[in-house]
Order: sequence, then structure tokens, then C-alpha cells
Amino acid sequence: MSDNIESHLQENRTFAPPAAFSEKARIKSIEQYEEMYRESIDDPDTFWAREANELKWQQPWDSVCIWNPPHAEWFTGAKVNITENCLDRHLENGNGDKTALLWEGEPGDKRSISYRELHHEVCLFANALKNNGITSGDRVLIYMPMVAEAVIAMLACARIGAVHSVVFGGFSADSIKDRLEDSQAVAVITADGGWRRGKIVPLKANVDEALASYDGVKNVFVLKRCENDVTMTDGRDMWWEDETAKVDANCPPVALDAEHPLFILYTSGSTGKPKGILHTTGGYMVGTYATCKYIFDMQPDDVYWCTADVGWITGHSYIAYGPLLNGCTQVIYEGAPNHPDFSRFWQMVEEYKVSIFYTAPTAIRAFIKAGDQFVDGYDLSSLRLLGTVGEPINPEAWMWYYNKIGGGKCPIVDTWWQTETGAIMISPIPGAVPIKPGTATRPFFGVDAAIFDETGQPVGPNEGGKLVIRKPWPSMLRTIYNDDQRFKDTYWSEYEGVYLAGDGARTDSDGNFWIVGRLDDVLNVSGHRLGTAEVESALVAHPAVAEAAVVGRPDDLKGQAVVAFVTVKTGIETSDDLAKELRNHVGKSIGAIAKPDDIKFASTLPKTRSGKIMRRLLKEICATGKISGDTTTLEDFTAIAALQK
Ligand code: ATP
Ligand code: MG
Repeated sequence: MSDNIESHLQENRTFAPPAAFSEKARIKSIEQYEEMYRESIDDPDTFWAREANELKWQQPWDSVCIWNPPHAEWFTGAKVNITENCLDRHLENGNGDKTALLWEGEPGDKRSISYRELHHEVCLFANALKNNGITSGDRVLIYMPMVAEAVIAMLACARIGAVHSVVFGGFSADSIKDRLEDSQAVAVITADGGWRRGKIVPLKANVDEALASYDGVKNVFVLKRCENDVTMTDGRDMWWEDETAKVDANCPPVALDAEHPLFILYTSGSTGKPKGILHTTGGYMVGTYATCKYIFDMQPDDVYWCTADVGWITGHSYIAYGPLLNGCTQVIYEGAPNHPDFSRFWQMVEEYKVSIFYTAPTAIRAFIKAGDQFVDGYDLSSLRLLGTVGEPINPEAWMWYYNKIGGGKCPIVDTWWQTETGAIMISPIPGAVPIKPGTATRPFFGVDAAIFDETGQPVGPNEGGKLVIRKPWPSMLRTIYNDDQRFKDTYWSEYEGVYLAGDGARTDSDGNFWIVGRLDDVLNVSGHRLGTAEVESALVAHPAVAEAAVVGRPDDLKGQAVVAFVTVKTGIETSDDLAKELRNHVGKSIGAIAKPDDIKFASTLPKTRSGKIMRRLLKEICATGKISGDTTTLEDFTAIAALQK
């Protein structure tokens, strides 16, 4: 018996791609997927060159990939501008009048923006940046609500070669300051405020507070969104409207090296202090383009909606860049999913006739907890494809999503990837790969995923281990900004020349990848190493349970005892009997070894601001009763305070 992670939960429900879907899809069969996959692994240069050639380059590349582990260069020698591919290319192809963005503010205000209009606005703002002395290579921090201008600001930076670093609008002044210092940013783009659950988030005031102790910023651009009062500092702060009024919209896309830095983005902080992940231009562009095209199977008449915030990698790759590279029409929504109530998303799906919908397990579990009455009565028949990202999706939540939202006819793409990977790495190709609830299924083209044991050998089916990627891929991170040593230590020190993802996983006998939890969170119970995801999924499968987080607590006898933090569905009463029932339920689904020693009912679980459960904080509470780790990305401190009692 090795030290590998054990896997016990069985899931046998399989859903073949609906025939009606496959017929129209780009990739129509598992054979076609497998053939393309084989080519992409055997001859990645040919595969990626073909994808890249669907896009526009100002100068061709000399080599597709140069790999000096752990450093990769893609499309070396090429000159390119990603915004030319997101915007100008569609105008040249006669699609200028196509709707790019269908935006809706939380209060209900609406805007429809065509590709031509988006191009115009990006050029204007890019010229405003230039006019204020911002040039190629400068770092620009973006701290915006989910308005169209957030995307415009990102693209405007990319147009002139400035490196954006987007900070989620829910973060505090301290988090902004950390990221300003780490990225040495010279400018900030923000708004007076943004709407969240009917209240104004004081974005500009937060920026002011951050800038009180960081003096590297020369310009702050402020968009008027909420018309709330703000203080403008003379010579530093300027209105978006004024600056764009001073320039014209003639802004040719700058020819940038394929390896020119595109952005720095900090990870969610689920396992520790956030890392400043650096992505570059050419490879990232090809990776997001191709994943969007094949995994979301984007077709000309699709209306796509990704509910992520641009402050996360999902909002970068699958709002700002991927869909625009594919010339798609997409919905962007400013506010909270439960404002004014939990029917907001479904009302918008009906209104905009959304056909592809991409969200996170945390949102799905929140909808289930709130109750079906918020979904009932909305016409969701426009949907043809669903997606999830961010955490393992518990099979029961998957089934609800599939039946209640997808009407049993939409494939679900469970997409595994990371800030570091830049683009989706493991996911079903929806017209081709049969799906099972809870697995991200098969690797995307060019992704040489495997599961290694402690010694660096691939493990067999149904044996758990560490998820790794053995070959470079175009959208891979290039380094941790200003900390190449941490880059090497974090991802490349465990196995030589192989990327360590930091997640535990197993494959089944069909070659599907199951993420069983984070390596940092693996439990060690009487010599058995258990991932958290399976125990949590067993709990969530109980009809009373909404969410669960499982952690280990030091135990003299067993090494670690299993502690489960559980929230129940609206209207359910908690009791000792229910706790006992849940323990037995886990025992039956997985085995006695996984039975929680302790069930703690909670009203909410600690999460990152991107909605991921932060088990490390729960683990600390169990072990010491206190929190000492990094909490800057924690969503709601009261959740932790309540649990500490
Ligand atoms: P940090 O690296 O700072 O701890 P983080 O890992 O949460 O934060 P992200 O890059 O936002 O930061 O998240 C990537 C992680 O999210 C993955 O490593 C994995 O643990 C989890 N994840 C994302 N998508 C899926 C999925 N479809 N299934 C299972 N896990 C997923
Ligand atoms: Mg991570």
C-alpha cells in the first residue's frame, strides 16, 4: 500500500451526448475527440499551429514552442495583438454589427454593444491611457464593477501592451495595496462605485485608502457608475469621460512579441497567500480561443453567459478574451445572483435567450438551498449547454443542474483548470464525451494530464495520486511575477520537468479524471489518505444537506479524526439525530473509514471571495481554535467568527 490518496465513492450514472447536440457540434464523436487528442499529444506543434492560424498575426512565428523546463515560450518570433483578434478581425469579416455584449446592471439598466462599438470604445480608452503617458509594459491595476468598461479597460491595456492586473471589486483596500506593491503598478482604473445587493460598493474610496500607503501610482481613471460622492485628487485622479473626450478613436493595435506579458492575476488564496500569476500574449490567446471554441462549442447564433467576475481567471479567459476571440454574443451582469431574489439568473436566461451558461458549484448549491420555486415558471428552453468551474461539483448538485436547469437535454461541461493554467485543461467535449456527474472527464487537446504517486510513477485506474501535466501548453503561466523561485518551488520541484497542479485526483477505468480534493486538504485517518471531495459529495447527496466541508482534526488514536461542517437546506431543522443519520449515510456511501467523527452544523461556510470553501481555516479552528493563516481573500469574516464560538 502506497501513500496515495484513496478513492471510494462510486458514481455509475452516465449520460451520453444527446444526438441532437452532437449532430450540430464541432466534434461529434468520441472517436473524433480521441483522434484529435492523439495528434495534439504526438505532434503538438502541428496541432497548435493550425489553431493559431485561424487567428491574425502581424508577423509569423519561428517556432511554435521552445521548452526549457520549467520555462516555455510559445510562438516565438511572432508579433501579435490580442485585441486585433478580439475586435478588428470581426469588423474585417463583416461582423461589426453583431452584438458583442448584452450588459445588465444590478438595478436593471441595460446596454447592448456591437463589435464595432466595442472596438471604438477600446480604441478611445487606449488612446486616453497613452495620452496620460502609459506605455507598453506598464502595470495597470483594474478595480471595477462588472460593467462593460471593465472589459474595455482590460482590452485597452492589451491594445497598447500595458499589463493589466484586475483586482476583484469585492476586495478591500489592503488587498488592493498588496497587489499594487507586488505588481508595482503605475496607474489604476476604477469607478466611483458598483452595485451589489442594492448597495453601492465604494470602489474609489477603497482605492484612495490603498493609495494612502503606496505612492507609485501617477494616474487614477474613474468611471461614473453610481454617481456616489468621491474625492478626486488633483493631478492624479481623472474621469473616464473627460479623458476619452480628449482623444480620437484611431488606435492601431500595437505589434507585440508573442511572449509580451498580457496580465498578472492573483490566485484565489484557497490554500495560502495569493500568487501573482503571469500570463503572456500569443499562447494565452490561442489557448483561450481553442478551448472556448471546442468546449463551449460556440456557434454564430449562440448567446453565452459566464457568471464569473472579471476579477477571476474565469472572467479573464471566458468573458474578456475567449468569447470575443470567437466573435460570440455574451451577457454580462453586474450584480448578485440573489438580487432582488434567487430568480434573477433564470429571469435573465429567459430574457436574453441564453444558450450557453457557465457558473460555479457554489452558486448551484446556493440555488438548491434556496429552493426550486425560484426556478419554476421561467422559460429556460433556450439553453443547450451548461458549464461549471471552480470546485469539484458534487454529483447531487450536478444532477439538479442537469435536470432542473438543463431540462435533462443539455450536456454539462465540468471544467477543471486554474489561474495558472490560463485555460480549461480537463473537460468533456460536449458533443463527443459521455459524462458522469462529478468528473471533469478527459483532458483537452494538448494537455498531457496524468496522476503520479509519490515516486513520480503514473498510478493505475481508481488509484488516487497527484494531478500533474507532463507537457507544456500554450496558455500556461510563465512565472510568478517577480518571484521565479516561488514559481519553481511551487509547481516544478516535486517532479522534474512536470507541472504539479496541487490537486489530488484519480482516473476511472474509462479514463475520466476525478478531482478528489486539494493536496493541502488530504485527510490521513488511521493510515488511510482520503480526499475531501468524496466525503463532502456523500454528505451533499443527503436530502437535508446543502453544503459540506470536511477537514481533519489531530487525533491521538487515528492520526486525524474526520470533522464535517454542514449547512442544511432552507427549512430543515438540525439535531443530534440528523448528525447521526449523516454519519451513517457517509458510512453507507463510502465506508466506515470516512464516517465523520464529528458533524458541526453551521449557517455558512468560510469561502474565498470567488466562492471556494476554505478548508484550511476550518482545519485551524479544529486544531487550535484560532486563525493565523492568510485571510485576505476570505469572503465573510462573520462565518469564521460564528464557527470559532
Ligand atoms: P490558491 O492557489 O491561491 O490556493 P485557488 O487554487 O483556489 O487558490 P484558482 O486558480 O482560482 O485558485 O483555483 C484553481 C483550483 O480550483 C484548482 O486547483 C482546483 O482545486 C479547483 N477547481 C477548479 N475547477 C475545478 C473543477 N472543475 N473540479 C474540481 N476542482 C476545480
Ligand atoms: Mg491554486
